[in-house]
Amino acid sequence: MPASASTQRGTVLVADDDPVMRLLMLEMLAQVGLQGIEAGDGLEAVGLAQERAPDLILMDVDMPRMDGFTACGAIRAAEKNGACVPIVMVTGSDDVEAVTQAYEAGATDFVSKPINWPILGHRVLYVLRASDAIARLRIADAQNRAVLEAIPDTFFRLNADGFYLDYEPGHTRVRQERPGQHCPGRPANGPFAGTPFIGKHLADTLPPEIATRMLEQMKTVLATQQVRSVEYELVECGDVLHFEARLVATSPSEVLGLVRDISERKRAEEQIRRLAYCDSLTGIPNRQAFLETLERELQRAKMGNKKFAVLFMDLDAFKRINDTLGHNAGDQLLKMVSERLRETTRPSDLVSRGEGSEPRDAGATNLARLGGDEFTILIPDLERVEHALNVATRVKEAMRRPFIIEGNEIFVTASIGISLFPEDGDDCGSLLKFADTAMYHAKNCGKNNAKLYSSSLTMQIMSHVKLEVGLRRALQNDELYLVYQPQRDVRTSEIVGVEALVRWRHPERGLVPPTEFIPLAEETGLIVPIGEWVLRTACRQARTWQRLTRRLLRIAVNLSAKQFKDENLSQIVLSALNDTGLEPRLLELELTEGTLMDDARATMVTLEQLRGIGVHLSIDDFGTGYSSMNYLKRFDVRALKIDRSFIAGLPQDSENAAITRAIIAMAHGLKMVVVAEGVETNEQLLLLEELGCDMVQGYYLGHPSSAEKITGMLHHAQQALPAK
Ligand code: C2E
Ligand code: CA
Ligand code: CA
Repeated sequence: MPASASTQRGTVLVADDDPVMRLLMLEMLAQVGLQGIEAGDGLEAVGLAQERAPDLILMDVDMPRMDGFTACGAIRAAEKNGACVPIVMVTGSDDVEAVTQAYEAGATDFVSKPINWPILGHRVLYVLRASDAIARLRIADAQNRAVLEAIPDTFFRLNADGFYLDYEPGHTRVRQERPGQHCPGRPANGPFAGTPFIGKHLADTLPPEIATRMLEQMKTVLATQQVRSVEYELVECGDVLHFEARLVATSPSEVLGLVRDISERKRAEEQIRRLAYCDSLTGIPNRQAFLETLERELQRAKMGNKKFAVLFMDLDAFKRINDTLGHNAGDQLLKMVSERLRETTRPSDLVSRGEGSEPRDAGATNLARLGGDEFTILIPDLERVEHALNVATRVKEAMRRPFIIEGNEIFVTASIGISLFPEDGDDCGSLLKFADTAMYHAKNCGKNNAKLYSSSLTMQIMSHVKLEVGLRRALQNDELYLVYQPQRDVRTSEIVGVEALVRWRHPERGLVPPTEFIPLAEETGLIVPIGEWVLRTACRQARTWQRLTRRLLRIAVNLSAKQFKDENLSQIVLSALNDTGLEPRLLELELTEGTLMDDARATMVTLEQLRGIGVHLSIDDFGTGYSSMNYLKRFDVRALKIDRSFIAGLPQDSENAAITRAIIAMAHGLKMVVVAEGVETNEQLLLLEELGCDMVQGYYLGHPSSAEKITGMLHHAQQALPAK
């Protein structure tokens, strides 16, 4: 082994059968700091070479027992692990054949006799140094090979013109990643292994676009001597593989390239992206993804002077479905809804294609689920507002077909709000918020609706919210009170009942009409406590009149659908009656047709309970809903109140007169009492009398008035009809 020649000058084995020659040689070596050991013949030399591992051997040719050539060969044969001790043969003067033979036997160098003694030492030193360098090179080379073996990258060298000087394919890709999978045409190793590259041009081995990019970067690398990398994709056997080539200048005219397969990393990145941007339930983009798409679209639209629309969709009865059928069914519905939305909002359907504008692949991120039952759709390149409305209509249409979930047919409608860029706002937050605002407006306008945002909407919503806050305080602050409108018997003209109507005196706004705050109370659920208060107050008042006048006066109270659905309703009614002492038969609950039809089975149960208590029912606003006769029979309703829209045109409007006549006949057939609402004139009263109407209510017979005024009316023993 060539031991650390750099620090120690080393040991030289001198093999010569002439002791004088050996002595002289040792002397010369000592002069340059080298230590010598001696062998008297070839055989001894072979033994010492193994035993002492000298750093160099000076070997005479002619020796007894074993000549120098044979000894040289034997030493070489015994060497292991690539070791190679330098052997300098000492040959006869111009013995060319001996020189050749020496090299063939594995000699490193030779000196010829007669020996030039003064330079022998230096010659030996030189050979030692050279062999040391070679040994180091060999180690470096072995290390390089080991590194090349170990790393997966493909290596190549290119000259300044882009021709391959060298090429070493990478190792790991196929082995590690796709065991056993092989397809014809796929390089066995790495991106371009398997073809002889050396001498070829980059453009012969890579797709043109990639080769061009690589050549450009290569020029930069050569000019700047900085590392550059190029990422590219290759399709192999239908798989997209991603590669990264790092280019390093190794000289002013050569570039080393390291190509790594980064497909796995790309897949991992893609996976992370998908998790972060995908709604896990429906598989469509989530809020985050939508916000980023929106931001990109905003920038694009600003630069290109383009318009776009944001649609905000919310299912109308999702909570009910979730509550009645369970969360699983709710989840399934959301999945199906998003599937239908996906079908209706394919990019090609969204982009409005005008003259000269190219269809842009808007990607699937135009649709997103923000959470719950809220979905958003981005409509890029909007040319006309109608286009956004068309998309909204298509979305509503798509929801029309029933959804079959767990064997149930479920009908769903959606409310949609739309905001426009740049008309409504120029930042993502506002556009999304305004679309949401418009969606709420759509819901308030009766659901299954699509509405465009307008700035006045914000004002409306603001006042709506303010009103709601006020309404929550109205009960505690005694801002609510009741007025009563008399109902008269047509034949006797007597007041036989009154309808209680609630009023709200708002501390700032003054009187707020019930048509404004009752829907708000229903929406917020406040109708339940308010309704209970109305019921108790009305019952108490009726009882007071009874005591004061000693007459049985019927009191009618309006019930909203929300109250009717409240499972405590019968309890509330019962306790109001008990607490006030009013007879149940004097309380009449007014319900609309819609309330009764909403959920027939639950309705029957509630009605049964109310009947059990002994209160009466009447159908309010009759004729505006969709009651069927069968229902009316089953529900055991005492009275029908003909909606005032039919009465308003009387007596001139012959059609309404016919309808009124039919309703009265039908109600009487079912043994029901008929009340006409909104009677404002004597003519109307006369006609109704003629048609056989039982009771009348309206401004002509008495405005809704305070309890005191009604008391006054009741005290007049003779309540004559006001003459006109
Ligand atoms: P409704 O139950 O149909 O009540 C009759 C409405 O017609 C009352 O309006 C009354 O003032 C009005 N009216 C009476 N006579 C005439 C007339 O000759 N001509 C015209 N044009 N109108 C007449 P109001 O008090 O504004 O109440 C509106 C609606 O608000 C009621 O309609 C009822 O649906 C609801 N409402 C009122 N009070 C309550 C309540 O305590 N609870 C519930 N749930 N709803 C109530
Ligand atoms: Ca009513
Ligand atoms: Ca009515």
